[in-house]
Amino acid sequence: MTKQERETERAKRMARHVEAQRITAHGMCPDCGTKLYRNLALSGWWQCGRRGAPGFQKEAGPACDFQLFYDPTPAEHAAIIGGGQ
Ligand SMILES: [Zn+2]
Repeated sequence: MTKQERETERAKRMARHVEAQRITAHGMCPDCGTKLYRNLALSGWWQCGRRGAPGFQKEAGPACDFQLFYDPTPAEHAAIIGGGQ
């Protein structure tokens, strides 16, 4: 892997974290606007309130499969907040 490729990978990873941080801070599904809920089975697991079969959804409505894993390590968190310095 070249230096350029490593830099690109790093930038992509950082962009995903920033996006996940923004979504979880907002607490709304980016696909349908329903409230997001944490699934406590795994740390950092967020799911759209409309995820699941009818009757098992936290919020009734058209099905939505959105879910997100966001559980940054302290180093990743520092890198995001500190702009990668
Ligand atoms: Zn949704």
